[in-house]
Amino acid sequence: MATLVPCLDALRSEFNRNFPRRDKSSDGWIGDAAHQASRSDHNPDSRGIVHAIDVDEDLRAPGASLRECVEEVVRRHRAGRDNRLTYVIYERTIWSASYDWRPRDYSGSNPHDKHAHFSASYVRARENSRAPFGVEDIVTQADRDDIVRRTTAAVVAALSDRDKQADGSFTSMIGRNALDQGIPPANGVTPRWAAWRVMTDTRTRIVELESMIEQLQTKIDGLSRTASAPAQQGY
Ligand SMILES: [Zn+2]
Repeated sequence: MATLVPCLDALRSEFNRNFPRRDKSSDGWIGDAAHQASRSDHNPDSRGIVHAIDVDEDLRAPGASLRECVEEVVRRHRAGRDNRLTYVIYERTIWSASYDWRPRDYSGSNPHDKHAHFSASYVRARENSRAPFGVEDIVTQADRDDIVRRTTAAVVAALSDRDKQADGSFTSMIGRNALDQGIPPANGVTPRWAAWRVMTDTRTRIVELESMIEQLQTKIDGLSRTASAPAQQGY
């Protein structure tokens, strides 16, 4: 009984998790009769392990594309942050470890314009690693909408809570609300990993803005004290 190499099983799961509605018609792993006539990572090796998967390009996730995923996976390999793949083919382009992951024209009979092909290493430790490949970092339009919704709610809540602060200040309300309402585990609905990652950056920016608002508030308070001070002094 043939099995798929664990690292590619993890990569396929990452695609399924990140794009739960994706089309799988052009997916594949174990080679058919045509594959078995030639050398292919889709054929089981002597241990019965298959070292290739094909992933359908239709992710059914507006705002994200298979190209973006391929580029992220390749970028990590090129930067030396991953070494579990040996080559990737997509849209007449091949990126391989043996050519430092530089893109080269692929002229094989299948142009790979409906799916991307991922081939894995035969080195045991690499085969067995199920660490993320970077696909889960790809942000979809739904993630962007989610980020905007959560961030807006957090800022609105902070602004309306301002009156409740004894001293009338914002006192970390915006940053704290963004943290409490937008980011798990405090919020009931957990954003997807990709959205969460962007929101963490957004929160940092909000905390910066918050401190700018505090400074402006102090300035305004100072100005209004001066303006309302009795003017009779010196007379
Ligand atoms: Zn393939």
